[in-house]
Amino acid sequence: MSESLLQVRIWRGGPADQDGRFVEYQVPRLESQTVLDVVTHVQRSVDPTLSYRFACRVGMCGSCAMTVNGQARWSCRTHVSKVVDEGGVLEIAPLSNLPVVKDLATDMSGFFDKWAQARGRFQGGQTRHDDFAKVSPQSRERQAADAGIECIGCAVCYASCDVVQWRPEFLGPAALNRAWTLVNDVRDTDQTERLRAVAGDAGCHSCHTQGSCTERCPKGLAPTMGIAGLKRTVARAAVKGQL
Ligand code: SF4
Repeated sequence: MSESLLQVRIWRGGPADQDGRFVEYQVPRLESQTVLDVVTHVQRSVDPTLSYRFACRVGMCGSCAMTVNGQARWSCRTHVSKVVDEGGVLEIAPLSNLPVVKDLATDMSGFFDKWAQARGRFQGGQTRHDDFAKVSPQSRERQAADAGIECIGCAVCYASCDVVQWRPEFLGPAALNRAWTLVNDVRDTDQTERLRAVAGDAGCHSCHTQGSCTERCPKGLAPTMGIAGLKRTVARAAVKGQL
């Protein structure tokens, strides 16, 4: 029986190569094959110069996201059979809205810089001499924080966001989702500065609530809900004269 082959197109090129283009490959089609398996096969068996990024292979690290047949996805947990019909073509490109380093590897520094701009870092107010803070898992604030806490920083939401494309300074869904988890962390002492950071022109009010982030987040998070929460919280703080 002849081996079944998968037709694959992979984006090749980088900043020094302004003539980036799709290159076609044929890869053995296997059962339970993921998009990351396909990319790895090409690099290990066809062209070792192919650049891409991955680490855990099990949906925890968030490093392997790519554009798969036009849509941002985590490649390690995207089965080929879910995105390509029998006889179809698998097209793999780097994430949108991020500069390409080379081939499928994008520069994530701007994405994470925005987490810092949104003050996405926990700021505690206690010392090691204080007792542990006690926060009820059932409290409204903790439940709101828990709803967004499992973000793996994959940038699928960021690459799927039209507002980021139109306004590159927009902080984006992941950074704002992170800010929302901290706004709901009752131990954090940086709340006013964080609300100021997400209230500006590049902040939560620029979101058009199109929902692509929530539709495509591989962890099932809802950055759109968090951004809506930030809009309400910022508005309340502004009315009270706190910002
Ligand atoms: Fe990825 Fe979801 Fe976090 Fe966005 S919110 S970076 S899609 S895990």
